[in-house]
Amino acid sequence: NTFNRLLIVSYRLPFTFQQTDNGVVLVQNSGGLVSAVLSMAERMGQKQDGAATKIHWVGHADASLQHIESSAFENETFVAHPVFMDEAVHKGFYEGFSNDLIWPLFHYFTSFASFRETDFDSYQQANTRFLEELTALIEPGDLVWIHDFQLMLLPDMVRKAMPTATIGYFFHIPFPTYEIIKLLPRTWRHALLNGILGADVIGFHTADYVQHFMQSVSDVLALPIIGPRIVLPDHSVVVKDFPISVDFTKFNSSGQDAAVIAMKAQYQTLLQQDKIIFSVDRLDYTKGITYRLQGYERFLSQNPDWHDNVTFVMTVVPSRDQIGHYQEIKREIEETVGRINGLFGTIGWRPIVYSYASLTFTELMALYTACDIALITPIRDGMNLVCKEFVASRQDQRGVLILSELAGAAQELPDALIINPTDTQEVADAIKQGLAMAPDEQEQRMARMRMHLQNHNVFRWSNDFLRAFDNLLGNQTDLE
Ligand code: UDP
Repeated sequence: NTFNRLLIVSYRLPFTFQQTDNGVVLVQNSGGLVSAVLSMAERMGQKQDGAATKIHWVGHADASLQHIESSAFENETFVAHPVFMDEAVHKGFYEGFSNDLIWPLFHYFTSFASFRETDFDSYQQANTRFLEELTALIEPGDLVWIHDFQLMLLPDMVRKAMPTATIGYFFHIPFPTYEIIKLLPRTWRHALLNGILGADVIGFHTADYVQHFMQSVSDVLALPIIGPRIVLPDHSVVVKDFPISVDFTKFNSSGQDAAVIAMKAQYQTLLQQDKIIFSVDRLDYTKGITYRLQGYERFLSQNPDWHDNVTFVMTVVPSRDQIGHYQEIKREIEETVGRINGLFGTIGWRPIVYSYASLTFTELMALYTACDIALITPIRDGMNLVCKEFVASRQDQRGVLILSELAGAAQELPDALIINPTDTQEVADAIKQGLAMAPDEQEQRMARMRMHLQNHNVFRWSNDFLRAFDNLLGNQTDLE
């Protein structure tokens, strides 16, 4: 292979710090990105001959970590490089520009977007802080892989600081149509697009997002585009879709864990063998939670036979609840849950079992494997991993996925019951159809979706991304 080391840059460090008798130690999270990066490093030959070249990970860290001795930022596999920044800069960069402008705008919630010049200044300063951390670290021959919408300016900053660096960039949220990009002030949209274009390879989840990006580049910057390549004066960029996915084997086999099986049985007893509908999302207005509740309400009012025979277990994971729009949506969800439970519930039956909490992995697996329907209805979602995790968990090949056509994942999973989340009648009909679906139809649909995810798992995602650099370097000519 052509690279010496892998340098990952993302807003969040995928580590926690644990106090032990020997001081503070670095513990890596078990998320999909970490597994994908480990597999990628292996492909790059980083672990050959046991001579471990560690993977470096640059990410924001809270000021509270500033007092931890630097040896704690390392384990046998990773070296974490914390990026500390001024609290006011962080607020403008993260809560402001990233979560209060780019997030709503790129998910087509244009009226939620706040345009503040001071936030853009903070965004530039924060990206510069990441650059400073990187320049202290980077060596010739490294592959730098930058992640997501918090760091759009960074690829070009790295290229300017180190023109020979090889840079990958992956965008984890939707890239919207040019009409949305046009809402950004001219200088901002130039800066953001030019920033991303510092990379050698740019990845998005779907072909639609790739097209939207290409159109914006062509309209805003008038750059020549040849097939998947954008031609700039000093380099060319390959832009391609790489749909992110899950560790299929992990979800497939965890369903057999004794703790998961025991918890699943406990849930089924508590819910008295009712059919179970399940959903889990971070608190977010993009997730379509209120429409989902309205669809369920419509189903209940049209199908009294199902009263007392179905329970909707809806978990909302706390997220960003310091921001006004998130507090508002939380209130709306909780009012709607209360109203529906009040309208249909009885002493012995709660139509919706709602919680605002995070789940442990065991609880999540128990719910994925216990439920009859996973009801995933985002109004807009870059990919949506929950639906892929659900499918991967169902070794029994049972269960029905109801999935919004506005999730990136819908492009890959046509065997789900595909719905439009704002069409509450369609949602109600899909719930009815899903609850009545014969086992052999469930099995046929599940088998096809599972086959797809087994082949298109998160390791394939990262390895395909890595292979795109071979194409760039002219080692291969086909870019399928
Ligand atoms: N998840 C979690 N905590 C929970 C429940 C779920 O971290 O209590 C995970 C879930 O397993 C999935 C991720 O959060 O991997 C959600 O990813 P998705 O792409 O569906 O949505 P996002 O939150 O990234 O918008």
